[in-house]
Amino acid sequence: MDACGLSPKMKDYINRVVAFHASPAPGVLIGSFMVDLALELLGVAPGEKLFGICETPKCAPDALQVIANITTGNNRLRVIPIGKFAVTVNTATTNPTAEAVRVYIDLKKLKQYPIIDTWYANSPAFNKSTMEIPLQEEIFRAGRNILSSEHVRVSAAPKQKWKSVTCPYCGDIIPDYLFENDRCGGCGSMKYYEKISG
Ligand SMILES: [Zn+2]
Repeated sequence: MDACGLSPKMKDYINRVVAFHASPAPGVLIGSFMVDLALELLGVAPGEKLFGICETPKCAPDALQVIANITTGNNRLRVIPIGKFAVTVNTATTNPTAEAVRVYIDLKKLKQYPIIDTWYANSPAFNKSTMEIPLQEEIFRAGRNILSSEHVRVSAAPKQKWKSVTCPYCGDIIPDYLFENDRCGGCGSMKYYEKISG
């Protein structure tokens, strides 16, 4: 990374996101450049109250979480599993919609970076054992040169008011807007475990 001419700010972003993600995955590195560009285009600094949408559950959400404090837990991160490597960021608003910046990997620009191109397409030509380090180097060299951006409008639904309701099947309480017909999601469509004894 030192040899790649990255700014101290980008190095700091990448180091923190890699530590959080627990590996220097290519998507984490590219995601860091994406969030940096989105913040710059919005004219905001990390620490401001921001909202984000990530179009893949892989890697990129961690860059939003670490760099921009757009997290699952603070409910400012939406992950929509479209399968594109793109993030959209907006500032807080009381309006029903917000103007946002969408940053994405631009396939046309990717043609100048054949290793990233091969990796991104999940091509059989990408050999992880021999190309992992060259891929990292190419990502550092490319930086934001493989990205494009656009101004978009997104919904910015205000916080919902809610009251608690009791599920007749498990006896737990949940917010009313999550109730499914006559039961909670855990007793309904989101049931994900079976009890085992012992
Ligand atoms: Zn229930």
